[in-house]
Amino acid sequence: MTHSSSSALANLGEFGLISRITAGVSPNGNVITGIGDDAAVTALSAGMQLLTSTDMLLEGVHFRRVWHDPYLLGRKSLAVSISDIAAMGGIPRWALLSLALSSDLPLDFIDDFMRGFLAMASENQVSLIGGDTCSSRSGVAISVTIMGEQYPDLIVRRAGAMPDDDIWVTGTLGDAALGLKLADDVGFGFTPSTEISIQNQGSPHTDSSPAGVEGGMQPLLSRLLDPNPRVLVGLALAEAGVATSMIDVSDGIVADYGHIAEQSGVGGRIFLEDLPLSRSFRSYTASFPAIPYQMALSGGEDYELCFTADRSNREKIVDCVEKCGIAVTRIGIVTSFSGVTVVKPDGTPYSFQTEGFNHFT
Ligand SMILES: [Mg+2]
Repeated sequence: MTHSSSSALANLGEFGLISRITAGVSPNGNVITGIGDDAAVTALSAGMQLLTSTDMLLEGVHFRRVWHDPYLLGRKSLAVSISDIAAMGGIPRWALLSLALSSDLPLDFIDDFMRGFLAMASENQVSLIGGDTCSSRSGVAISVTIMGEQYPDLIVRRAGAMPDDDIWVTGTLGDAALGLKLADDVGFGFTPSTEISIQNQGSPHTDSSPAGVEGGMQPLLSRLLDPNPRVLVGLALAEAGVATSMIDVSDGIVADYGHIAEQSGVGGRIFLEDLPLSRSFRSYTASFPAIPYQMALSGGEDYELCFTADRSNREKIVDCVEKCGIAVTRIGIVTSFSGVTVVKPDGTPYSFQTEGFNHFT
């Protein structure tokens, strides 16, 4: 076993690979027929509708294998899809996973990837019910389709924001983008003697730390490499019926709120001084004035939830989100006129360059 686990995919064959991938799968009660038949059979809960979303992650575009530990990559591959169900106020249920792998890929990579994927699945009561594998001639490609469910009147869409609603965001912004920049600048191989001063912020993810990473960067890197989808918050908001619109922050708050504004036929003012920034983000941006504030506005991959709500629901919202152990911050106001502006404390507009990741520019 030790020998075969370090050998390459080529020796395994497709069916060997599939049984290796599916070895750790344990379907939940809502799967009637799981992996192994021509199609999976599942049952929606009575009265609920199906939510479906799909994502691709490509080596060299969305992740780099030298940085991204395969276990964490497995977690993230599913986390970003679960985040889309959370952004609808849905309950994530079923996932399909398709992998294109190069034949020289070590089997350890696949084993670790699947351990991470299935750990994220079980943390969110998601069942892997199928997928596909094929060989790739240029890097690893991962495609995940997620399905969830919710009662029709609890589903929260991007359309629905009303003028004068508050704009809210969970957690903190810019951490993943700053983590990416730091990893880009100093790499994972740097030592504490590097002139970069690193303050230890503590970390909830010390067990998944890539080798050589200092404590101070760890919270930022964790946000980049091991995002945590806000399923409970999305559900709590949906069940409380307080969010008029919602989206997950994958491309930066300005771009993602922009989608809400566009779909809702409104605009928005976002207040610069109200953006929630983590201690790590503040300490790094303080010691590196060159790292622009705009990272919090346009940096991607935070996977927080941005939503709008009538101002009469402020207390309810703080209650319902903080019950989930997540902070929530009011960052702006929905306007009746179109366009999203970021406003400085003195009331003048803050101009910044959009860094939101766009694959087609
Ligand atoms: Mg999304």
